[in-house]
Amino acid sequence: MKTLETDVIVVAAGPSGLAACVSAAENGAQVICFEKGTAVGGTANMGMGPFGVESRVQKRMMINLKKEEVFRRFMDYVHWQADAKLVHDYFWLSGNTIDWLEDMGVVFAGAMKNFPDSEPTWHVVMPEGGGKPGPRCASAMNKVMYERAMELGVEFYLETPVYELIKDGDEVVGVRAKDKDGEEIEAWAGAVIIATGGFGTNPDMIKEYTGFTMHENITTFEVPGVVGDGIKMAWAAGAGKSRMEMERIIGMPLPGAMVFQRPQSTIFNQGAAIAINRSGYRVCDESVMQNMSVGANIIGFQQGRELWRMLDSDAVEYYRTHELDFPSEVFQDDPTVDFEETWEKWAKEFPNDAFAADSVEELAKAMGVNVENLVATVEQYNKFCDMNYDDDFNKDRNYLHPLRGKKFYAMRYSSHAYGSCGGIKVDHTLRAITQDYVPIPGLYAVGMDVCDIYNGTYDYYFPGNSMGFCVNTGRIAGKNAAEYANRPMEDE
Ligand SMILES: Cc1cc2nc3c(=O)[nH]c(=O)nc-3n(C[C@H](O)[C@H](O)[C@H](O)COP(=O)(O)OP(=O)(O)OC[C@H]3O[C@@H](n4cnc5c(N)ncnc54)[C@H](O)[C@@H]3O)c2cc1C
Repeated sequence: MKTLETDVIVVAAGPSGLAACVSAAENGAQVICFEKGTAVGGTANMGMGPFGVESRVQKRMMINLKKEEVFRRFMDYVHWQADAKLVHDYFWLSGNTIDWLEDMGVVFAGAMKNFPDSEPTWHVVMPEGGGKPGPRCASAMNKVMYERAMELGVEFYLETPVYELIKDGDEVVGVRAKDKDGEEIEAWAGAVIIATGGFGTNPDMIKEYTGFTMHENITTFEVPGVVGDGIKMAWAAGAGKSRMEMERIIGMPLPGAMVFQRPQSTIFNQGAAIAINRSGYRVCDESVMQNMSVGANIIGFQQGRELWRMLDSDAVEYYRTHELDFPSEVFQDDPTVDFEETWEKWAKEFPNDAFAADSVEELAKAMGVNVENLVATVEQYNKFCDMNYDDDFNKDRNYLHPLRGKKFYAMRYSSHAYGSCGGIKVDHTLRAITQDYVPIPGLYAVGMDVCDIYNGTYDYYFPGNSMGFCVNTGRIAGKNAAEYANRPMEDE
């Protein structure tokens, strides 16, 4: 058995843990970080960048968005069902955190929107070595934080999962971990910060705490290792439970293929593609689904938590010669390139999810939706297009394209999630608290293990909010844990 001693222990090295490491070390603490995986960065290695408001990046881009406006709109969006003080502290720090990351060496490609009606709060990271930002570019940010932490003397133990918190009375005073050779480690500290990323890869916890059934009515990115370890350890140490939910976005469930590897599928996010439920009816003004979390809600509300987006060959041709209604920052390739060949191929390979047919009837049969109703829906919709007025949902006229082409295409959408949100109850200083709101001395928790600020719907109007919450809560907790661990003796 190995015994270690330090001021602050950080459990895991995703973006929240890495930010906590740097922040605790900058605030004078000796820090040890245990990470289960072979590399640092966690889920954020798949992402593109964090939220920030009033950053230098935004000022350089002449973006004049104010934190007060973002705060008010965010809190209204979640019906004030979130810890307003925590949201305030996060938003107020967020611009400075982007500057802090820049000063460390992170290069941002800019502050981007996620869809046209959203705000440019998404600080997309420039990939290592330059080039076009895209999926996974945020790994460059994690690398910079890791290097900065090591420069500050933080000791990292990779492939060393923590499995238990050590308590002395009410106080958390350390952790037990096991290294890759199976050697037990007992590490003692003045404060412990949990940052294990939630339970997005744990089907049992997803079922028990959110009601979704993995692979049946929800899929996630299934990031290895993110299985709720920190949440369970905190609960065992007396922490209360916070609201727990999935961080849902619209899902395209083609098996074995990740969303971002399929530029052709993004054509179904455009205004021309109608959204159909099992009964063969349209369900919304489809343009609202460009907001992926609103889209997830619409999907979640349908029978079987699924719907289909459908368009015809004329619409594909239209987008071949016109700009996309909703170009994506993530899927930047032209979806019309090789669309027909790709879709015909996928319709054979993935018969439950991708569809191509010569008539609406044939398409409806393949999709498994009510044939008669879908035919009537399309006829009705075509009349709306001829009238230039959508009498069902008042969709913008620019998106009204009749479905009278030679071929018809559809894709099934289901509920998908980046991962999970919430689990450990914390106060606004990121101290873990009991169900009765009593702080557990020495225990802090950050990132997706604690994030319960969305009230069911991720706020895509301010993109980057997930990683933004993680980096900022990590930064706040790092400072607070360092101060707690090194508090003067008379405070004892
Ligand atoms: C494809 C994709 C794209 C995304 N893009 C964006 C984006 O552009 N912007 C945005 O805001 N958000 C984005 N997100 C969400 C964002 O990446 C996550 O919210 C964020 O990474 C969560 O950070 P975290 O530190 O809480 O946990 P994670 O990043 O999940 O890291 C958790 C870490 O904990 C480790 N761990 C687990 N158990 C233990 C243990 N017992 N002991 C030690 N270590 C342990 C894991 O190995 C992992 O490294 C994206 C997510 C996905 C899946």
